Amino acid sequence: MRNFKKIPNPKFQIPKVIILMGPPGAGKGTQAELLAGKLDLYHLETSKILEEKFQEKARSVVLIDGKKYGVAKERKLWEKGKLCSPEFVAYLTIEKIKELSKSAKGIVFSGSPRTLYEAEKIIPILEKIYGKKNIKVFLLEIPPEETIFRNSHRRICELMRHPILYLKENEKLKRCPLDGSRLIKRGKLDKPETIRVRLKEYKERTYPVIEYLKKRKIKVEKINGSPPPAIVFENILKKLK
Ligand SMILES: [Zn+2]
Repeated sequence: MRNFKKIPNPKFQIPKVIILMGPPGAGKGTQAELLAGKLDLYHLETSKILEEKFQEKARSVVLIDGKKYGVAKERKLWEKGKLCSPEFVAYLTIEKIKELSKSAKGIVFSGSPRTLYEAEKIIPILEKIYGKKNIKVFLLEIPPEETIFRNSHRRICELMRHPILYLKENEKLKRCPLDGSRLIKRGKLDKPETIRVRLKEYKERTYPVIEYLKKRKIKVEKINGSPPPAIVFENILKKLK
Protein backbone atom coordinates (compact mmCIF):
# COMPACT_ATOMS: atom_id res chain seq x y z
CA MET A 1 0.00 0.00 0.00
CA ARG A 2 1.27 3.41 -0.88
CA ASN A 3 1.17 6.05 1.72
CA PHE A 4 -0.39 9.25 0.42
CA LYS A 5 0.21 11.24 3.57
CA LYS A 6 1.65 14.66 2.85
CA ILE A 7 5.42 14.62 3.41
CA PRO A 8 6.86 18.02 4.32
CA ASN A 9 9.44 19.31 1.88
CA PRO A 10 12.75 19.02 3.77
CA LYS A 11 14.17 21.93 1.77
CA PHE A 12 11.91 24.30 3.67
CA GLN A 13 12.16 25.02 7.32
CA ILE A 14 8.45 25.41 7.55
CA PRO A 15 7.71 28.46 9.64
CA LYS A 16 4.63 28.42 11.75
CA VAL A 17 3.80 32.07 11.17
CA ILE A 18 4.36 34.25 8.10
CA ILE A 19 3.39 37.91 8.24
CA LEU A 20 3.00 39.76 4.93
CA MET A 21 3.06 43.54 5.10
CA GLY A 22 2.91 46.22 2.43
CA PRO A 23 0.62 48.86 0.93
CA PRO A 24 -2.84 48.03 -0.46
CA GLY A 25 -2.43 46.21 -3.76
CA ALA A 26 1.10 44.97 -3.03
CA GLY A 27 -0.16 41.42 -3.52
CA LYS A 28 -0.34 40.33 0.12
CA GLY A 29 -3.57 38.42 -0.42
CA THR A 30 -2.33 36.59 -3.50
CA GLN A 31 0.99 35.64 -1.90
CA ALA A 32 -0.78 34.57 1.28
CA GLU A 33 -3.05 32.25 -0.73
CA LEU A 34 -0.02 30.76 -2.49
CA LEU A 35 1.90 30.30 0.76
CA ALA A 36 -1.12 28.85 2.52
CA GLY A 37 -1.47 26.26 -0.25
CA LYS A 38 2.22 25.40 -0.48
CA LEU A 39 3.00 25.28 3.24
CA ASP A 40 -0.42 24.24 4.58
CA LEU A 41 -1.04 27.40 6.60
CA TYR A 42 -4.28 29.14 7.49
CA HIS A 43 -4.67 32.45 5.65
CA LEU A 44 -5.74 34.97 8.26
CA GLU A 45 -7.11 38.15 6.71
CA THR A 46 -8.19 41.08 8.83
CA SER A 47 -10.63 42.16 6.14
CA LYS A 48 -12.31 38.75 6.15
CA ILE A 49 -12.59 38.71 9.94
CA LEU A 50 -14.04 42.22 9.87
CA GLU A 51 -16.43 41.51 7.02
CA GLU A 52 -17.67 38.41 8.88
CA LYS A 53 -18.25 40.49 11.97
CA PHE A 54 -20.03 43.17 9.94
CA GLN A 55 -22.58 40.60 8.78
CA GLU A 56 -23.87 40.56 12.34
CA LYS A 57 -26.74 42.66 13.52
CA ALA A 58 -26.02 46.35 13.08
CA ARG A 59 -26.65 47.09 16.73
CA SER A 60 -24.29 44.49 18.18
CA VAL A 61 -21.57 45.68 20.52
CA VAL A 62 -18.23 44.13 21.51
CA LEU A 63 -16.97 44.65 25.06
CA ILE A 64 -13.17 44.94 25.32
CA ASP A 65 -11.45 45.83 28.61
CA GLY A 66 -14.68 47.35 29.89
CA LYS A 67 -15.13 49.57 26.82
CA LYS A 68 -17.90 49.13 24.27
CA TYR A 69 -17.23 49.02 20.53
CA GLY A 70 -20.21 49.39 18.24
CA VAL A 71 -20.06 47.13 15.20
CA ALA A 72 -21.98 49.63 13.04
CA LYS A 73 -19.54 52.42 13.91
CA GLU A 74 -16.57 50.22 13.05
CA ARG A 75 -18.20 49.30 9.75
CA LYS A 76 -18.56 52.97 8.83
CA LEU A 77 -14.84 53.58 9.39
CA TRP A 78 -14.03 50.51 7.32
CA GLU A 79 -16.22 51.58 4.40
CA LYS A 80 -14.56 54.98 4.28
CA GLY A 81 -11.15 53.35 3.93
CA LYS A 82 -10.21 54.31 7.47
CA LEU A 83 -8.84 51.77 9.89
CA CYS A 84 -11.16 50.30 12.48
CA SER A 85 -10.38 50.82 16.16
CA PRO A 86 -7.16 48.94 16.85
CA GLU A 87 -8.71 47.45 20.02
CA PHE A 88 -11.58 46.03 18.00
CA VAL A 89 -9.33 44.55 15.30
CA ALA A 90 -6.82 43.14 17.80
CA TYR A 91 -9.60 41.52 19.82
CA LEU A 92 -11.09 39.75 16.80
CA THR A 93 -7.64 38.70 15.54
CA ILE A 94 -6.56 37.26 18.88
CA GLU A 95 -9.81 35.29 19.11
CA LYS A 96 -8.99 33.74 15.75
CA ILE A 97 -5.32 33.02 16.64
CA LYS A 98 -6.38 31.20 19.79
CA GLU A 99 -8.92 29.16 17.88
CA LEU A 100 -6.28 28.16 15.28
CA SER A 101 -3.56 27.36 17.81
CA LYS A 102 -5.84 24.67 19.28
CA SER A 103 -5.53 22.76 16.02
CA ALA A 104 -1.74 23.41 15.87
CA LYS A 105 -2.18 25.10 12.52
CA GLY A 106 0.36 27.59 11.18
CA ILE A 107 -0.84 30.99 10.01
CA VAL A 108 -0.07 33.37 7.18
CA PHE A 109 -1.20 36.94 7.88
CA SER A 110 -1.94 39.35 5.06
CA GLY A 111 -2.21 42.96 6.11
CA SER A 112 -2.17 42.41 9.83
CA PRO A 113 -0.98 43.65 12.30
CA ARG A 114 -1.49 47.06 10.70
CA THR A 115 -1.07 49.30 13.72
CA LEU A 116 1.49 49.46 16.50
CA TYR A 117 -1.27 48.75 19.00
CA GLU A 118 -2.28 45.57 17.16
CA ALA A 119 1.35 44.47 16.88
CA GLU A 120 1.94 44.99 20.60
CA LYS A 121 -1.09 42.84 21.37
CA ILE A 122 -0.65 40.16 18.72
CA ILE A 123 3.13 39.60 18.38
CA PRO A 124 3.80 38.55 21.99
CA ILE A 125 0.94 36.03 21.73
CA LEU A 126 2.36 34.63 18.50
CA GLU A 127 5.84 34.42 20.06
CA LYS A 128 4.40 32.54 23.02
CA ILE A 129 2.44 30.06 20.91
CA TYR A 130 4.81 29.53 17.98
CA GLY A 131 8.23 30.74 19.15
CA LYS A 132 10.06 33.83 17.91
CA LYS A 133 12.22 31.86 15.44
CA ASN A 134 9.12 30.51 13.71
CA ILE A 135 7.83 33.98 12.84
CA LYS A 136 8.84 35.30 9.39
CA VAL A 137 7.95 38.79 8.21
CA PHE A 138 8.00 40.02 4.62
CA LEU A 139 7.46 43.58 3.46
CA LEU A 140 6.11 43.67 -0.11
CA GLU A 141 7.03 46.96 -1.72
CA ILE A 142 5.37 48.65 -4.71
CA PRO A 143 5.28 52.33 -5.77
CA PRO A 144 2.18 54.44 -4.84
CA GLU A 145 0.98 54.78 -8.48
CA GLU A 146 0.92 51.02 -8.71
CA THR A 147 -1.12 50.75 -5.52
CA ILE A 148 -3.80 52.99 -7.01
CA PHE A 149 -3.81 51.28 -10.40
CA ARG A 150 -3.91 47.76 -9.01
CA ASN A 151 -6.64 48.47 -6.48
CA SER A 152 -8.94 50.35 -8.80
CA HIS A 153 -8.78 47.39 -11.23
CA ARG A 154 -9.02 44.59 -8.72
CA ARG A 155 -11.88 42.13 -8.46
CA ILE A 156 -12.72 39.38 -6.01
CA CYS A 157 -14.97 36.34 -6.27
CA GLU A 158 -18.32 36.47 -4.57
CA LEU A 159 -18.13 33.13 -2.81
CA MET A 160 -14.62 32.89 -1.32
CA ARG A 161 -13.33 36.43 -1.93
CA HIS A 162 -10.39 35.07 -3.94
CA PRO A 163 -8.49 38.07 -5.29
CA ILE A 164 -8.38 38.22 -9.09
CA LEU A 165 -5.38 40.16 -10.32
CA TYR A 166 -5.65 42.69 -13.08
CA LEU A 167 -3.81 40.98 -15.92
CA LYS A 168 -4.53 41.10 -19.63
CA GLU A 169 -5.31 37.38 -19.46
CA ASN A 170 -7.94 37.98 -16.77
CA GLU A 171 -9.72 40.92 -18.37
CA LYS A 172 -12.53 38.86 -19.89
CA LEU A 173 -12.83 36.49 -16.96
CA LYS A 174 -16.38 36.52 -15.56
CA ARG A 175 -16.15 33.75 -12.98
CA CYS A 176 -13.65 32.58 -10.37
CA PRO A 177 -11.33 29.90 -11.82
CA LEU A 178 -11.27 28.14 -8.44
CA ASP A 179 -14.94 27.92 -7.51
CA GLY A 180 -16.93 29.30 -10.44
CA SER A 181 -18.59 32.11 -8.47
CA ARG A 182 -19.16 35.57 -9.95
CA LEU A 183 -16.36 38.15 -9.94
CA ILE A 184 -17.26 41.44 -8.31
CA LYS A 185 -15.61 44.76 -7.48
CA ARG A 186 -15.30 45.69 -3.83
CA GLY A 187 -17.12 48.95 -4.53
CA LYS A 188 -16.30 51.83 -2.21
CA LEU A 189 -13.14 50.17 -0.87
CA ASP A 190 -11.37 50.15 -4.21
CA LYS A 191 -12.29 53.64 -5.46
CA PRO A 192 -9.16 55.78 -6.08
CA GLU A 193 -10.10 58.34 -3.39
CA THR A 194 -10.56 55.54 -0.83
CA ILE A 195 -7.27 53.97 -1.86
CA ARG A 196 -5.47 57.30 -1.31
CA VAL A 197 -6.87 57.39 2.22
CA ARG A 198 -5.75 53.82 2.81
CA LEU A 199 -2.29 54.57 1.47
CA LYS A 200 -1.91 57.52 3.83
CA GLU A 201 -3.13 55.41 6.74
CA TYR A 202 -0.71 52.70 5.74
CA LYS A 203 2.26 55.03 5.81
CA GLU A 204 1.36 56.70 9.09
CA ARG A 205 0.34 53.65 11.05
CA THR A 206 2.08 50.63 9.60
CA TYR A 207 5.62 51.91 9.59
CA PRO A 208 5.89 51.94 13.41
CA VAL A 209 4.91 48.25 13.30
CA ILE A 210 8.05 47.50 11.31
CA GLU A 211 10.17 49.40 13.83
CA TYR A 212 8.52 47.46 16.65
CA LEU A 213 9.29 44.11 15.00
CA LYS A 214 12.92 45.12 14.53
CA LYS A 215 13.13 46.08 18.20
CA ARG A 216 11.87 42.61 19.13
CA LYS A 217 14.61 41.10 16.94
CA ILE A 218 12.15 39.81 14.35
CA LYS A 219 13.71 40.24 10.92
CA VAL A 220 11.68 42.07 8.28
CA GLU A 221 12.64 40.92 4.77
CA LYS A 222 11.94 43.37 1.95
CA ILE A 223 10.53 41.88 -1.24
CA ASN A 224 9.89 43.69 -4.52
CA GLY A 225 6.15 43.33 -5.13
CA SER A 226 6.17 44.66 -8.70
CA PRO A 227 7.06 41.49 -10.67
CA PRO A 228 4.37 38.94 -11.61
CA PRO A 229 3.00 36.98 -8.61
CA ALA A 230 4.81 33.74 -9.54
CA ILE A 231 8.17 35.54 -9.39
CA VAL A 232 7.37 37.27 -6.12
CA PHE A 233 6.32 33.90 -4.70
CA GLU A 234 9.61 32.29 -5.74
CA ASN A 235 11.52 35.14 -4.11
CA ILE A 236 9.62 34.64 -0.84
CA LEU A 237 10.19 30.87 -0.90
CA LYS A 238 13.92 31.44 -1.44
CA LYS A 239 14.02 33.46 1.77
CA LEU A 240 12.25 30.67 3.65
CA LYS A 241 14.84 28.04 2.74
ZN1 LIG B 1 -13.24 32.08 -5.83
